[in-house]
Amino acid sequence: MPEVPTAPLVVEFPFTRSLGPVQSAFLTGLRERTVLGARTSDGRVLVPPVEYDPVTADDLRDLVEVAATGTVTTWAWNAEPRPGQPLDTPFAWVLVRLDGADTALLHALDAPGPDAVRTGLRVRVRWAAERTGAITDIACFESYDGEEAPGRGAREHDGRFADPVTGIVTPARLDYTHSPGRAQSAYLEALAAHRTVGERCPDCRKVYVPPRGACPTCGVATSERVEVGPRGTVTTFCVVNIKAKNLAIDVPYVYAHIALDGADLALHGRIAGIPCDQVRMGLRVEPVWTEGARYPDHYRPTGEADAPYDTYKEML
Ligand SMILES: [Zn+2]
Repeated sequence: MPEVPTAPLVVEFPFTRSLGPVQSAFLTGLRERTVLGARTSDGRVLVPPVEYDPVTADDLRDLVEVAATGTVTTWAWNAEPRPGQPLDTPFAWVLVRLDGADTALLHALDAPGPDAVRTGLRVRVRWAAERTGAITDIACFESYDGEEAPGRGAREHDGRFADPVTGIVTPARLDYTHSPGRAQSAYLEALAAHRTVGERCPDCRKVYVPPRGACPTCGVATSERVEVGPRGTVTTFCVVNIKAKNLAIDVPYVYAHIALDGADLALHGRIAGIPCDQVRMGLRVEPVWTEGARYPDHYRPTGEADAPYDTYKEML
C-alpha cells in the first residue's frame, strides 16, 4: 500500500450577522441573565427563539421569559474538548428544555463524567462572569437538585433592554485532516515538480484540472493522466479591490479563471506583470513560481497573441 498523504486543512472566517428583533432580545437578555423564548400562535414556547413559526411560517414577535433551570432531554459525552468549546475539561453536550419552554436548547453540561449525566437530569444555567450578549453568556449548565415547579410557565416579556446587542461576530472554523486521494495526490506530486496533471474522462473526453477522480457529468471514474499547460488562457477575471485579512497582496489585483492548454476546466489564479486595466479575456499567460512554493504564485502574460474566443468559450 502506498503511503496516503494527509495535511491539516483549516477553513476559518469571521461571520458577521445582524440580529433582528428576536435574536437581539434573546442575546441581550442573556447578558442580563434573562432567558427569552418566542411564543407561537398555538401557544408553544420556543427556546432558543426563532423569528418565524417553523410550522406556519408566521412572524413570531411575542417574547416570554423562561426559567434558568431545566431538564436534559438528550446528551452526548465529549471526552476530548477542542479549542473554542465551552469547557476545556471533558463535558457533555446536552439538549436542555428550560422550565416554561417546549423546545430544547443545545449547550454544554459541566459534569465529572458520563456516569453523572442522564436524560431527565435537572440542570441550571451557570452564567459567565463577564457577559456581552452572546450564547457564551451561558458559560454552561450544571446539575441542580430541584424539581420543575408545577405550573411555572413562561412570563410575558417585552424584549426591551437598555443598550441592546444588534450584531455579533461569530468566528467559524473547520479543522480538517485532508487526504487528497488517488487523483489529487498525483496532481500534487506533479505540482511539486512544477507540472500540472489532470485526468481525462473516458466518456466525454474532457480533461479535468485539478482532477477529482471522476467526471461529474458522466459519473464515471477517470484514470488517464494528461499533462496540461504550463501556459493557458484567461477565460474570465475580476479586479479585487478589497484587501482580504491575512493576505499580503496589495489591491487592486486581478484574479482570473485560467484554462491551461489541454484542460477543459479553468482553474483560479492571480494575474500580475500587467496593469489591471489591461487584463482581458483571451489573454495568454504562464505560471510564475517562487522558491519552495507548492503552486504558482501568479500568472503573467506570455506576449503571445490573444486566444480566439471560440477556443475557450465552452469553459466560461
Ligand atoms: Zn465525462
